[in-house]
Amino acid sequence: MPELPEVQTVLDTLETLIKDKKITDVKVLYPRIIEGDVSRFEADLKGQHFRDFKRRGKYLLFILDDHILVSHLRMEGKYFVMPKGTAFNKHVHVIFTLDDDKELWYQDVRKFGRMELLPLDYDFSHFKGLGVEPFSVEFDHAYVKEALKKRKLPIKTVLLDQSFIAGIGNIYADEILFKMQINPLCKASDLNDKNIDDLILYTNDILAKAIQKGGTTIRSYTSSLGVTGRFQQELLVHTKQKCSVCGSEIKKIKVNGRGTYYCPKCQKL
Ligand SMILES: [Zn+2]
Repeated sequence: MPELPEVQTVLDTLETLIKDKKITDVKVLYPRIIEGDVSRFEADLKGQHFRDFKRRGKYLLFILDDHILVSHLRMEGKYFVMPKGTAFNKHVHVIFTLDDDKELWYQDVRKFGRMELLPLDYDFSHFKGLGVEPFSVEFDHAYVKEALKKRKLPIKTVLLDQSFIAGIGNIYADEILFKMQINPLCKASDLNDKNIDDLILYTNDILAKAIQKGGTTIRSYTSSLGVTGRFQQELLVHTKQKCSVCGSEIKKIKVNGRGTYYCPKCQKL
């Protein structure tokens, strides 16, 4: 599943490919991808230009002239920019025809992705119950301290909770906890002030580095648009066998059903 760095990579790549391109036609081949009325969605998009490319958590926000097109890739959603008229496969569910003889395809093998159109002035601060953005000023010591105080769940589970921080998924949660030297099963409310500062520092550090490397290409997620992420070469604990710091065997456990990697020596409870 693409996490924040992969979503940002898709956005940055699309920006170089389709910025200011006009949508001349839209075909929705699988209506359930669209939230709301499909014919209205198609009609509203015609004549719009891709003006700006933003992100909220793992949601892509395409800022158009009169609307915001919101897209969530879920497990397998991908965008492709193709020459007009290219034969498409059965996994392509939405086709945007552009004014430069190109098409923007939305492909989604598992069909879990969703799109919707929202007004230009829509306030995304509490969109879908999302918490703060990692790179925002709101993500500070006071916010994290207050949020963790009430949470008795394992810190790994809390890091994946999008209502706490928006955009972190399974891979980066493991990496952040490794750098913090905190066991994934540690109760969130037990984190001290130093741990909280580390959480903010390493979250920003790891996500920024991953964006720089074009995200992580791992298992089911390979970035579309010909971008292969290189952050998998930087992973320190997720999917690893030996700890890069102490040489101990990395443990794999399930936390809330998610495969979780940690070093039992470096990450004590
Ligand atoms: Zn270790």
